[in-house]
Amino acid sequence: MEEKNMQKILNKQKEHFIKNGPPSYKLRIDRLERMKSLIMENRYKFVDALNEDFGVRSKNQSMITDAYTIVPTIEYCKKNLKKWMSPSKRKANFPFGLIGAKAQVQYEPVGTVGMISPWNFPVNLTFAPLASIFSAGNQVMHKPSEYTENTSNLLKELCDASYDEEEFATILGGPDVGSTFSSLKFDHLLYTGSGAVGKYIMKAAAENLVPVTLELGGKSPVIVSNSAESTTAAKRIMLGKTLNAGQICLAPDYVMVHSEKKDELVSDMKSAVAEYYPDIKHNDDYTSIVNEKHYDRLQSLLNDAKQKGAEIDEINPSNEDFSQQESFKIPPTLVMNPTEEMKIMQEEIFGPLLPIKEFTDIDDTVGYVNSKDRPLGLYYFGNNSEEENKVISRTSSGGVSVNDVIGHLQQEDLPFGGVGPSGSGRYKGEEGFKNFSNARAVYKQIGPRFDKLLSAIRPPYKGDIEKILKQIAK
Ligand code: NAD
Repeated sequence: MEEKNMQKILNKQKEHFIKNGPPSYKLRIDRLERMKSLIMENRYKFVDALNEDFGVRSKNQSMITDAYTIVPTIEYCKKNLKKWMSPSKRKANFPFGLIGAKAQVQYEPVGTVGMISPWNFPVNLTFAPLASIFSAGNQVMHKPSEYTENTSNLLKELCDASYDEEEFATILGGPDVGSTFSSLKFDHLLYTGSGAVGKYIMKAAAENLVPVTLELGGKSPVIVSNSAESTTAAKRIMLGKTLNAGQICLAPDYVMVHSEKKDELVSDMKSAVAEYYPDIKHNDDYTSIVNEKHYDRLQSLLNDAKQKGAEIDEINPSNEDFSQQESFKIPPTLVMNPTEEMKIMQEEIFGPLLPIKEFTDIDDTVGYVNSKDRPLGLYYFGNNSEEENKVISRTSSGGVSVNDVIGHLQQEDLPFGGVGPSGSGRYKGEEGFKNFSNARAVYKQIGPRFDKLLSAIRPPYKGDIEKILKQIAK
């Protein structure tokens, strides 16, 4: 779509907002309910489109991640919306508060939010943030990813049928369209995707001083203590790593395991994969890599690690041959003894490869995490509260799951987002509502009866002004 047409939609949304004012509670609930119906009535179509886009995308897992798990997010917003929308009373300064001055925060919609989303969970990453954006009373212009063409086309068709263009408009296209889109004068811009593109987004938004929420990725570490219960830890880590074949922003990127636990954990990881996926090549529940470009990128990470001395341990329970295949499947692969020179320890993996490092001193592990970009997620497995507290309090990340991976994302009452290079801003929870609202400070001054009081700090200044200021500054 050309810039002038995108601009036309934006103008239409802005005019609609100015003419009608903030949407009522009832209209917001209605928008959320339409979203829920759209997802649930068309879930099979979404699941099929996703499968088509990926080559193989587990329909069962799509049903979980890109259909059913969005419903509690919507319901949570509906349940809390009235409370979030009501003005928050605050204290007016002494002494004016005592004689009638009033202060409150009104959470107002910002207007039109531009939303750019990625290919890995195209349905979830449209509607989960949209629940916060709609709750806050905003309109939306959405640009989905060009990689998942079928799903993006379906999203457009269904959203066009459920929403007026003034409420929600879908703009299809690739990076060129994305680049033009991000230069529009939105009231807020939400981008979910890689940090590399995130930099362009932030630059484009800066031209118009548009506030941004960036949902990025990074290398989310897993720390496995010698106090961890190995079988459970292995099952949870490998479930997270193989879901969507590791193409998850919160996927466990690498594991640091206490050397006393390493052999046991590795053996349990292999058993966990064999239990989940006794075979992989023709198993429709093991998702393929989205396209050849990403497949080649992952193979080059593996080759680089191999060349630089890593031991590659492919988990292939049925000894299948992956050299010839219709889709781009890569079995879960452990990369033992990785070094810092290997690319796999330098960039986000975003696939089913899992480097395993060893440690003996937790302080070194904390130091290692702190020497890297602050990640989106951080995972600690163990049963040692002192160690757990140290790991959490001496590192930083967007979120933390203890004795799990990715779990914090599924908590409706928790906000989701990154920190620094893994992102900024939040959606979900009350923080999500506030993220897309203008926390407007409203102050009502005292009436004329007490206006005389204000003359003490008005010119012409009589007497000792500092005496009065000292009273106020007490
Ligand atoms: P992608 O390639 O689909 O790109 C994301 C979006 O950016 C697409 O809509 C694309 O068209 C658009 N785009 C590309 N170039 C652009 C440009 N120059 N200007 C404007 N828009 C442009 O997705 P991706 O970046 O490959 O996604 C993978 C990354 O996303 C990973 O790093 C992952 O960790 C991250 N991610 C983060 C979250 C999160 O919630 N924090 C969720 C999913 C993925």
